[in-house]
Amino acid sequence: MALSRRQFLLAGLGIGSFGFQRKPGKIITVLGEISVDELGQTLVHEHILVDFIGADRISYDRWDRDQVEKKVLPFLFEAKQAGVKSLFDCTPAFLGRDVILLKRLSEKTGLHIVTNTGYYGAVNNKYLPAWAKVETDKQTAHRWITEFEEGIENSGVKPGFIKISVDAGKLSDLHQKLVRAAAITHLETGLTICSHTGKSPAAFEQLDILKTMGVKAGAFVWVHAQAETDKTRHNEAAGRGAWVSLDGIGWGDYENYADSIVRLKEKRLLDRVLISHDAGWYKPGESDGGQFTGFTNIFNELMPLLDKRGFTQVDYEQLLVKNPASAFAIGAKKVEIF
Ligand SMILES: [Zn+2]
Repeated sequence: MALSRRQFLLAGLGIGSFGFQRKPGKIITVLGEISVDELGQTLVHEHILVDFIGADRISYDRWDRDQVEKKVLPFLFEAKQAGVKSLFDCTPAFLGRDVILLKRLSEKTGLHIVTNTGYYGAVNNKYLPAWAKVETDKQTAHRWITEFEEGIENSGVKPGFIKISVDAGKLSDLHQKLVRAAAITHLETGLTICSHTGKSPAAFEQLDILKTMGVKAGAFVWVHAQAETDKTRHNEAAGRGAWVSLDGIGWGDYENYADSIVRLKEKRLLDRVLISHDAGWYKPGESDGGQFTGFTNIFNELMPLLDKRGFTQVDYEQLLVKNPASAFAIGAKKVEIF
């Protein structure tokens, strides 16, 4: 007998009709804590606003929240119309993270919006505040943990995940330090680590660092894994238990995404895959915030291709509901010592 959509979701979360109970995890949104089973269909990597001016020049007076809101709201309602219930805003501090804005948008749309703590090292440290270059991993982690415990900049809004970023190739000492700071923060807070990474060598180096710090691969999201063209590396990372995030679906190349996702499914690794658009975003300094890319290509462009490859509602629930819930439920994922 086929399960109804709701029965299916409850079963997937270990609640309900299968005779066992598991306490559902929590997600921290900009409006406060929710249970993971409230997340629903989730886009795990999107952007409301990004300002590439650099950490030394960014400030909140570079955009007007009313104007941003006017520009962005129609795109959020369009996503909601497509069935989206939750959206993770992956813009880090010093690149335009604005939790007051996110809170307003969440209140106006009814979408769950989740923000982050952490620093973005890629692009040769242009988006790192000066102190991040000189502090120890513990000092930096302390700043992120404080945001988790006390809220971001007196807003009362708390981060629901860690977002860091590293440059491609061998990790610099500074970027290794960001990864260690993320590990310390994860162990203290239970927040999942999303790292803007790209190709696989930097992903595996980060996984190795996390392992030495006692953090399980399941606490790590390999962001922009689509940059790795050797798709066996996706399988390898997923096989190690890491989350493989194929998240540039806002920008075309749908056949390639479909192919990557089908390959992972063939290896029975679909339960390690996250998909999103990496779309948006309002650009301060450009007329009316510049060109904005919406959050619906997964539904309008990718799914028809996956339908043809035999994907069903069960697979979509896995990708857009179960995996985000499992990846982002708060809880330290320590390496088990045998
Ligand atoms: Zn992004």
